[in-house]
Amino acid sequence: MNTIYLDNNATTKIDPLVLKEMMPFLTDYYGNPSSMHKFGGQVSSDIAKARHNLASLLNAHPDEIIFTAGGTESDNTAIYSALEAQPEKKHLITTRVEHPAILNVCHHLEERGYEVTYLNVDEKGQLDLEELRGALRPDTALVTIMYANSETGVIFPMHEIAKIVKERGIMLHTDAVQAVGKITIDLEKLPVDYLSLSGHKIHGPKGIGALFVRKGVSFRPHLRGGHQEHGRRAGTENTAAIVGIGKAAELAQINMEIENTGVKHMRDTLEKGLLKTIPDAIINGDTENRLPNTTNISFKHVEGEAILLMMDGHGIAASSGSACTSGSLEPSHVLRAMGVPFTFAHGSIRFSLSRFNSDDEIKVVLKELPPIIKRLREISPYKNEESAPRSCSCK
Ligand SMILES: *Cc1c(COP(=O)(O)O)cnc(C)c1O
Repeated sequence: MNTIYLDNNATTKIDPLVLKEMMPFLTDYYGNPSSMHKFGGQVSSDIAKARHNLASLLNAHPDEIIFTAGGTESDNTAIYSALEAQPEKKHLITTRVEHPAILNVCHHLEERGYEVTYLNVDEKGQLDLEELRGALRPDTALVTIMYANSETGVIFPMHEIAKIVKERGIMLHTDAVQAVGKITIDLEKLPVDYLSLSGHKIHGPKGIGALFVRKGVSFRPHLRGGHQEHGRRAGTENTAAIVGIGKAAELAQINMEIENTGVKHMRDTLEKGLLKTIPDAIINGDTENRLPNTTNISFKHVEGEAILLMMDGHGIAASSGSACTSGSLEPSHVLRAMGVPFTFAHGSIRFSLSRFNSDDEIKVVLKELPPIIKRLREISPYKNEESAPRSCSCK
């Protein structure tokens, strides 16, 4: 049975054209780009091309792109770089809805004496820019705010955020892992200092990412060693993956149009169809400012994990906001921050599409999911409750 893969915010399929571009670097062209001989030098020009492609996608300069081992490393590098460059400043600002690659670094820094302000979001998952303005302090080293949310697809007003933060001369990082390749990002117009992206979220390979560091902005390397990446990120280049992310960036640029028409159309068809056929279902997040590929829907009185399991039985792969771990039901930190009522938050499903989905696949989901929800509601122990279930019942 073919899987209908609607979990593209978790990871994406490698585009066959990306794989084709990578293969020679896993077989014949194994030279070390730092070597003096032609065999290595040749590879180094392919790395330069990949860097150029990424810069082009973001309207940046190739020298502003540093290859890393993924979005997580880019996020960590940006935060530690900003702190190390301004050792006297001990305050950071972020949001409650960031990816763990930001949140867990912040929690770690709090243990090490830093102070972190976590900005709230409203019921649409949007920030209050006045709250941001009020949180800026003379000792604020860095503001790190994601561009688009992985769980809801909500896009933050990054241009306005940048204006507010840069007016005060404070450093700004954005985790744009979910935004890159889905919406236009023009770094000549958007004055962020650092921006993170990841290969496997844009139909490239896993374990490769990049960090944009604006020319003239202070930078301190996270990994020290060899002089790769002009001493900004040590370690022999992951050549095949770099070539892969470069090709993925080139294809993302070409396919942005499809993302915003074809993919968006499929997402909207799915969303409208589900809301029409399933009662007590709500969309989570600001539908005006949202990635074209994502919808996060809550189904009242059912557990997300149960929906996922039943969908999995029909070959449909999506993701749930809640994780039933260690005997307690914890709805996702994003939905909690948005104040989604527990009776809804437990039954939240994220569908994230890509250009590899088809209208036929969406039809299958629209046919299979309504009876699944109906069945689960019939056996739901809390169908008559207005409050949250007290204990975990999904084991
Ligand atoms: C996936 C993701 C990351 C982590 O990227 P990796 O390449 O998997 O390390 C960071 N931030 C966001 C918003 C993501 O979606």
